[in-house]
Amino acid sequence: MPELPEVETVRLELEPILVNQKILSASLVDAIPAKKYQDLELAIGQTIKSVNRRGKFLILELSNNLELIIHLGMTGVIAFKEFEKHVRVKLELENNSLYFQDVRRFGRFLVVKAKDYKSMPTLHKMGPEPFSKQFTNKQFFTALQKSNTALKTYLLSQKPVAGLGNIYVDEALWQVKINPQTKAKDISLAKVKRLRKAIIEILQASIEAQGTTLNDYRTVSGEVGEYANQLNVYGHTGEPCPRCKTEIERIILGGRSTHFCPKCQNIN
Ligand SMILES: [Zn+2]
Repeated sequence: MPELPEVETVRLELEPILVNQKILSASLVDAIPAKKYQDLELAIGQTIKSVNRRGKFLILELSNNLELIIHLGMTGVIAFKEFEKHVRVKLELENNSLYFQDVRRFGRFLVVKAKDYKSMPTLHKMGPEPFSKQFTNKQFFTALQKSNTALKTYLLSQKPVAGLGNIYVDEALWQVKINPQTKAKDISLAKVKRLRKAIIEILQASIEAQGTTLNDYRTVSGEVGEYANQLNVYGHTGEPCPRCKTEIERIILGGRSTHFCPKCQNIN
């Protein structure tokens, strides 16, 4: 599913196209469940003032103290040309029309009062952005100390740091040789420092490659993200670890497919 690098790639493409455009109409097509598309009619007549991102959420600042929140879910794709199937939203703008396609319906496209995220607990309780000044070694260590759950599962919660999903957590933990099942509170400060650095570097490298396309993710212009070529463990089950040649293993952790090297990332 799209994670921070993919959403940031989309944001970078949308920003110059959308800013200062007025939304003329908003129409929904087979867009259920309704709560994922609530209050979209409030966007009509409003001007898009800025295109921001928080974690994996796109946040379009609208006039009239409103925000249009977009989450791509598993399969959401945004484009300025009509899709053949599975379009959920069409926004008619002054210069063009924006289409939101979502095959598996995990996405969201809704309007809220600015900063009112109570209906979206993940966004409401989200940790710092990984590229922000707030994401420090001290903050990260303190956050991890609070959790008795597996490190991977806690990172996916978005609470210690925003934007990571299955792919980039597996890659970052492999990079710093931490077993994904290690309890978050058991990570030493020295390892936390290396992990923080790896998270930032991996996310930046992926943004430069326009993200990772494994299945559905496409940029706004319809291209695939090229970072899949740089993945070391994610999706490489049974292949040799690039560092030690041990076979990469896949387990299910917290309900999520998890890839790691049993030698480099030994639990001890
Ligand atoms: Zn290895």
